[in-house]
Amino acid sequence: MSRYDVFIIGGGPIGLACGIAAQKANLNYIIVEKGCLVNSLYNYPVNMTFFSTSERLEIGNVPFMSLNPKPKRAEALEYYRRVAKDKQLNIHLFEKVESVQRIDDKTYEIRTTKQNYISTNIIVATGFYDIPQLLHVPGEDLPKVKHYYDDPHYYAFQKVIVVGASNSSVDAALETWRKGAEVTMVIRKDTIGKSVKYWVKPDIENRIKEGSIKACFNSNITAVHERTVDIQTPDGMVTLENDFVLALTGYHPDFNLLKSLHITLSGDEKQCPLYDGETMETNQRGIYLAGVVCGGFDTHKLFIENSRVHAEMIISDIKKKI
Ligand SMILES: Cc1cc2nc3c(=O)[nH]c(=O)nc-3n(C[C@H](O)[C@H](O)[C@H](O)COP(=O)(O)OP(=O)(O)OC[C@H]3O[C@@H](n4cnc5c(N)ncnc54)[C@H](O)[C@@H]3O)c2cc1C
Repeated sequence: MSRYDVFIIGGGPIGLACGIAAQKANLNYIIVEKGCLVNSLYNYPVNMTFFSTSERLEIGNVPFMSLNPKPKRAEALEYYRRVAKDKQLNIHLFEKVESVQRIDDKTYEIRTTKQNYISTNIIVATGFYDIPQLLHVPGEDLPKVKHYYDDPHYYAFQKVIVVGASNSSVDAALETWRKGAEVTMVIRKDTIGKSVKYWVKPDIENRIKEGSIKACFNSNITAVHERTVDIQTPDGMVTLENDFVLALTGYHPDFNLLKSLHITLSGDEKQCPLYDGETMETNQRGIYLAGVVCGGFDTHKLFIENSRVHAEMIISDIKKKI
């Protein structure tokens, strides 16, 4: 069985940053990723533009050059692939971590879909993009209800309901409307989200004002049917004809994985995993958290730009203990 100082679960930007830091510290490490390299970014909408400027997405001191200050998804994929190649990171792709068992005070056994490993330390960098927040309404399991949005062409000339008012929802509403979809947004609150990219916000507000994109504010979907959707609005129940529902209401970390590792979660509704703010170590000795997984349900708290520092914090703590 292969034995490591550091076993990193997740090959997203922060998992890669942890690998780079471990390599720099001459630690024996491996990154295991269940999908392709930077799998979450690969699954973002094809035309997506980051809200961060490219230098804030850099890891391992490798410069990120992009055509415009804010890079697009394709440029980010190019960048992280180049980083992984340039640094010759030790990474296994398309291999999912299924369980972790403590063997003794200093050793964990990790079981994946392909093999077993032994490691002294584990870094959980599994992000939050794998599990969507559900609407919990009847009909949500119909194939026309999607929790991920990729390309607008698919929705041309269709009646589309976009649920939510955050960046993802606003991008999807504008893009599909521009490709000929008839778009209605269903928004729980009374405005478009405050954190919507500053250069996109006026666009969506003006499209709503002019009536090109319809918006039901203070409203919730109550049921999805084959051809219609029921919406509770301040003026009562409304039923709209509908072909597709894009329920872009957010995502959350894999709490089952965290619980299986016996990591304590905060008792409140955010369910933040608890960790030492200086070392990122959890209540389980040798198990660390890195990246956006740390936020629990509060997925707007951490991004690539403010969580890439976790890598150095964790590796310097591990180094101290060896
Ligand atoms: C649409 C969108 C736009 C965003 N824009 C920005 C932005 O502009 N700037 C910014 O800083 N942040 C942005 N973010 C937030 C941030 O980019 C992402 O959340 C980022 O991917 C976080 O990096 P991470 O490495 O922590 O997690 P992720 O990139 O999600 O990586 C986690 C990885 O772990 C893998 N994994 C999960 N479970 C397992 C398992 N059991 N075994 C093996 N592998 C596993 C996943 O496949 C995934 O590849 C955006 C997020 C979204 C959704």
